[in-house]
Amino acid sequence: MYRADTIVACATPPGRGAVAIVRLSGPEALAIAGLLFEPSSGGALEPRRLVHGRLADDGRPVDEVLCVYMPGPRSYTGEDTVEFQCHGSPVVVEAVVAAALARGARAAGPGEFTRRAVLNGRMDLVQAEAVADLISATVAAGARQAWEQLQGALSGRLAGIRAAILDVLAEVEANVDFADEELPEERLEMRADRLGTAESGLAALLEGFAAARRQREGYRVVFCGRPNVGKSSLVNALLGHGRMIVTDEPGTTRDSVEETVDLGGLAFVLTDTAGLRETASVAESAAVERARRLAEDADIRVLVIDRSAPLSDGDRELAGLLDGRSCVLAINKCDLDAAVSREEIAALGSAGACSVMTSAIDGSGCPELADALAGLAKAGDVSVEAEPAVVSRARHRSAIERASACLAEAGRLALESPAHELVALELRAAVGELAGITEVLDNEEILDRIFSEFCIGK
Ligand code: GDP
Repeated sequence: MYRADTIVACATPPGRGAVAIVRLSGPEALAIAGLLFEPSSGGALEPRRLVHGRLADDGRPVDEVLCVYMPGPRSYTGEDTVEFQCHGSPVVVEAVVAAALARGARAAGPGEFTRRAVLNGRMDLVQAEAVADLISATVAAGARQAWEQLQGALSGRLAGIRAAILDVLAEVEANVDFADEELPEERLEMRADRLGTAESGLAALLEGFAAARRQREGYRVVFCGRPNVGKSSLVNALLGHGRMIVTDEPGTTRDSVEETVDLGGLAFVLTDTAGLRETASVAESAAVERARRLAEDADIRVLVIDRSAPLSDGDRELAGLLDGRSCVLAINKCDLDAAVSREEIAALGSAGACSVMTSAIDGSGCPELADALAGLAKAGDVSVEAEPAVVSRARHRSAIERASACLAEAGRLALESPAHELVALELRAAVGELAGITEVLDNEEILDRIFSEFCIGK
């Protein structure tokens, strides 16, 4: 499935840094390293020992480096691997890679080291995907989720469910010639029990999909409110930088703007319902309509009220729309004199909504607003601490859905007594679907798709 040649790539990001790592993997890794590297203390490279020395290309010194040799199969790729830690200059890195290429190595493609790890049985496909997720994680929650999958949380859960289905399959196949009437009652009950457990196990994984995705990609937060109440300013204050355009003139921001921000280790995609002020005449009604649509898809809604101006019908209408939904009321412009009383704010309702007093101008209340968002996110979802096995990729979800459908069909067929072969067929299909999540089933296309999202050097 892969040519067992020796590949080379820089494993650290492009650009300048204190140190860069160039990695070699394959049968010739040690031999190539031997041609390039001279240990300061003489002697040969010992397995898993960091050795100081000089890297030279045809006698021309390239850099002073640290070198480590990790013999296969107990290496990341499962093959002999050598890593050079050189100075983090693109010129040095290029020279080290070029020297290895000149000695017979081949430049690695994206994710090729991890691909070899999978093909050599060092990790399964879910774990390889977790490597990509861990590298691309933007917040602590996403990294934690990826880490759990890398440790095998999801793979282990799927293996347990598969084993339960295989038990039933073996039993069904062993008794394929018997009619149900001839089988002991307990045996049929045992089948139904095990299949039920497998089905609910899969259902639980699917149930957690949306939450896992939110934790990985960010909770969608929509800022609603009539024009000029300070939505953009509050979004900017939360972002901590001025990416959005805020002016005294309504109408400058044309479209809704999205930005992802890390608040307390969780990712939030903040959407400003800007563009509500396309024309002054329709502004208020457009605001309500736009907010209604965006709030529909949001995980959390922030209704912004300007406390320095009397409440309008638009404020009340929006409050009515968001009432009872996962919502925070941001009572903004608290640095100015209040034109809205506590009673009026209380009368806005928003059952269950928490309210925060803010000033986007002096930043007061912004930490509380961030806490409120994090609080709502955490209240709504199971954390990865409580449930480490999560499904957050569409590939896994659709395979689990197909496996569940097969189990449901097997259950239905089992009620029709002479259909044992058909039951076995469905059970086998379910096992196959689950196997395809973690295992390489002779499907290069899936492998190519998975590893195309990797960076070179991983
Ligand atoms: P949006 O239309 O709801 O997005 O409102 P903007 O964020 O564009 O703000 C409208 C105006 O109100 C701008 O002039 C802001 O500087 C001002 N503004 C926003 N928040 C505050 C605040 O908390 N205090 C004061 N004094 N002015 C604010």
